[in-house]
Amino acid sequence: MKASLIVHGGAWDIPPELIEAHRSGCRAALLEGWEILHSGGHALDAVEAAIRVMEDSPALNAGTGSVLNAEGQVELDASIMEGAGLQAGAVAAVQTIKNPITLARRVLESEYIFIVGEGAVLFARGAGIEECSSEELVVERELRLWEAQRSETAPAVRGADGAVRSDTVGAVAMDHQGNIAAGNSTGGRPFKHPGRVGDSPLIGCGIYADNGLGGAACTGQGEGIIRVALAHSAVQLLKDGKPVQEAALLAVQLLQEKVDGRGGLIMVDRHGNVGYAFSTPTMAYAYLREDMEEPVVGI
Ligand code: ASP
Repeated sequence: MKASLIVHGGAWDIPPELIEAHRSGCRAALLEGWEILHSGGHALDAVEAAIRVMEDSPALNAGTGSVLNAEGQVELDASIMEGAGLQAGAVAAVQTIKNPITLARRVLESEYIFIVGEGAVLFARGAGIEECSSEELVVERELRLWEAQRSETAPAVRGADGAVRSDTVGAVAMDHQGNIAAGNSTGGRPFKHPGRVGDSPLIGCGIYADNGLGGAACTGQGEGIIRVALAHSAVQLLKDGKPVQEAALLAVQLLQEKVDGRGGLIMVDRHGNVGYAFSTPTMAYAYLREDMEEPVVGI
């Protein structure tokens, strides 16, 4: 089987000063995950490794550099799924974990699927995952945006198209054995109500993977994406025989037509073909397949 990997760094109206960081973050994540796939590693390992790189990038809204909630705190959500046995793991509203995708991976390996808040941090301790202070995840840019939002002078909490200014990072991979995996990690919406959870950690909404069909990872307005179970809907379009790029485009259309939602998604089908689409002004993405010489990186 020909391996393939696609990553996204969020669908929204990325401001000019953050474009380059989104490109380089996606590229670095792609190459990290690719190293694993290329040397015969598992799709799950590639997805986790790629997402960890983007979580560690202060420019992207996941892990370090995440947006702040209405109380000025980070609250992180992440999920990961594999398509051989439909195993999945997810965490939400965690505040002191540097790489929530690795915690989601540990949950996938456990008897549970979804663990939230303090319980997820307790689970992390038990799994030997190091905690950090929540302050370590906060960057100056987000603090300033939060302060502006609090005093109602926020510049661009909504982009030109009305899309909420945010980001999620995600990855979908197929390895040499034909295993498909998908993952997402996010700080969610800026100034969100404490405890608000979007689509990103919800299986079937933010991500889905099935070796017989393909995988998808979504980004954008979580409240809309949840209502159309976007990742599962997109993968079902593959079952209906749609080529992967058409399936991605139709999924974005579905989001818009059904619930007037904006967002984007990345996909891989069971042959390793990749697809992506977005209805926001921009979405950062990068992909590579075994039969390509160079990665494609785009906004
Ligand atoms: N989907 C994420 C959420 O609603 C945000 C995003 O991808 O922009 O939390």
